[in-house]
Amino acid sequence: IHGGAGSLSKESLSLEADSLYRNGLSEALNKGIEMLQNDAPGLDVVVEVIKLMESNPIFNAGRGSVLNNLGQVEMDASIMDGSTLDAGAVASLQHIVHPIEAARLVMDSSKHVLLSSSPAEEFCLAYQLDSASNDYFLTDKALRALKRSQENSKKFGTVGVVVRDGKGHISAGTSTGGMTNKRYGRIGDAPIIGAGTYANDATCGVSCTGHGEMFIRLSVAHELSAILEHTDLTIQEAIDIIIDKKLPSIEGKGGLIAIDRNGKIAFGFNTRSMLRAFATPSHSAIEIY
Ligand code: ASP
Repeated sequence: IHGGAGSLSKESLSLEADSLYRNGLSEALNKGIEMLQNDAPGLDVVVEVIKLMESNPIFNAGRGSVLNNLGQVEMDASIMDGSTLDAGAVASLQHIVHPIEAARLVMDSSKHVLLSSSPAEEFCLAYQLDSASNDYFLTDKALRALKRSQENSKKFGTVGVVVRDGKGHISAGTSTGGMTNKRYGRIGDAPIIGAGTYANDATCGVSCTGHGEMFIRLSVAHELSAILEHTDLTIQEAIDIIIDKKLPSIEGKGGLIAIDRNGKIAFGFNTRSMLRAFATPSHSAIEIY
């Protein structure tokens, strides 16, 4: 799982904030571990773990989403099933409490892959998804971040989950409020299948975080899958090419987490930090820097 790439450093992060992030990651990771131990399908794990993170205001997704240049939330999310290549995504949601549930609904209950803004919300409401008024999303943290960003500092942060379940099926999902002070209507990489999210049992599952425009231009998530499909590189070698060569060639900042078809977990980022946590049947870890 990841909780976004960004510019946190050991020196700048207070002990209190460090433990808030670690607790948030650990709560989410434990939820995933528990579900997988009970043989839950990977897709359900992706949804439930991301829902927990969307409810935790420390993450830039759901409740804690950053604000656009009008001071509103506009949330993007996507999910993909690596066993069928089915996918669902939503963009520019303003009232849906769990955008990842909306993405799953688009995948399961519509003929489409991506729905956006108020028509997407209407679709969600017809299926009784939870919604909330603007006040729910206007956290102090997001209002402060908007003010800082309007004064010109950059901050990322998104949530993503990649799972390889007991049957060997890979699924991936990503959910975000996007980038602070983005122009209203802007859609990032998170709801774009192949840019911010991708899953294919034959190659890997991927969830990205960072400056979305660059991830769209490089089709980062599908690029990783394509490198694995067409070369003999390991997943870590493939990630290193994308993060250390391709993204920097267009001044792209960010990172990604991935799992390959054999269950190998790998990640990379070219920002100062990327909140992340992993678990295998024998080992788990939480890392920030
Ligand atoms: N990738 C997200 C976006 O551009 C932001 C992030 O990951 O921080 O919308």
